[in-house]
Amino acid sequence: MGLLESFGRSHASRRKIVFDMARVPALEDLGDVAGKRVLVRTDFNVPMEGPDDRRVITDDFRIRAALPTIEWLTSRGAHVVCASHLGRPKGPPAAHPRGLSKATRYSMEPVRARLAELAPGVELLENLRFNPGEESNSPEFAASLIKGIDMYVNDAFGAAHRAHASIVGPPMTLPSAAGRLLQREVEVLGNLREKPKRPFVAVLGGAKVSDKLGVIESLLQIVDALVIGGGMCFTFLAAQGYPVGSSLCELDQLTTCKRLMEGPKPIYLPEDIVGLDASGNFATFGIRLPEGAKGLDIGPGTAGAFTDVIMDARTVFWNGPMGMFEDERFAAGTRTVAEAMAATKAFTVVGGGDSAAALAQFGLDDEVDHVSTGGGAALELLELGDLPGLTALRGAPNVK
Ligand code: ADP
Ligand code: MG
Repeated sequence: MGLLESFGRSHASRRKIVFDMARVPALEDLGDVAGKRVLVRTDFNVPMEGPDDRRVITDDFRIRAALPTIEWLTSRGAHVVCASHLGRPKGPPAAHPRGLSKATRYSMEPVRARLAELAPGVELLENLRFNPGEESNSPEFAASLIKGIDMYVNDAFGAAHRAHASIVGPPMTLPSAAGRLLQREVEVLGNLREKPKRPFVAVLGGAKVSDKLGVIESLLQIVDALVIGGGMCFTFLAAQGYPVGSSLCELDQLTTCKRLMEGPKPIYLPEDIVGLDASGNFATFGIRLPEGAKGLDIGPGTAGAFTDVIMDARTVFWNGPMGMFEDERFAAGTRTVAEAMAATKAFTVVGGGDSAAALAQFGLDDEVDHVSTGGGAALELLELGDLPGLTALRGAPNVK
């Protein structure tokens, strides 16, 4: 599988990747692309900061990640038209109460400028989510996207778990393929699901607690142990009967967490917590948080225990920071886990926008085997073994 050398981190590509893409067409299956207009669905949902009319891209990883596919096409004479969503603008610019300001906030203009530097001559459509037909998967919107287009490539791994118009529409009629990024993501994560080296440990954290609780049950089917930190741990601690103060906690999930804890696979939870006390001062706690206290990071004892689990594993998947790492006072737990990911001999995969950003912030992004561009998509692929975007590509007219 020489395809792997085209994108990815050096030591990952040396490993044997055996996952079968199960009839998902690759760029080679498009046939002759010379002179063709190719719509490439990319995931340019990049982190940005600054006022609405002067947004600055803080990390262009997702734009650079699409370059192997774009260059494969342009070097063979194709004209590339990229299309992506950016944030959640909730409809067209005019629908926003703050009107133009909101429109500027979600405009692709800063991305277009960066893309013009990285891949001159490549077109970029305006934010797909300005049209409500994108998320509602409207056939009319899909038809408008492929007007004057000859072929379709999906390279948006981060959006391939959504049955949106730009993901599932074009392959119904156009010759289609998975781009290099999508292909590599599916190979790495598919392998993780199908034949991981054991012990296989998943480390989960972050803030989207209810989203992620849903996948824990399925993850428990494929991993040997689960490590839980971040905002997510407090629902589990509360389910065990520990007081969690005013930390993030989903009361309606307590019985689910309790049931999961009673299963056969070990679930490692924090044994000490760092956060703010009721008066807002930095404090270190044991496992019981006093009233009004807020847990914002795992404590040093926990970070050490989690490190041991990561060092003993042969495969580790990590999604979700261990604490509110954007604040230096609460970054230590995430930093220690990131260092363990870098140090372990295990095959290491990190998924999720914030987890990847944390890794980059500590300068460790080259020290893991694979950094996934998708958080939700990575979890869903691990959970279900397939994505709506892949199913759509398999049904394309160029697939026999
Ligand atoms: P990812 O993008 O990697 O999938 P999430 O988006 O789920 O991760 O979560 C990232 C966010 O979680 C970060 O902004 C971080 O500050 C926050 N976070 C982590 N731990 C806590 C906590 N204990 N309390 C509140 N927020 C937390
Ligand atoms: Mg996030």
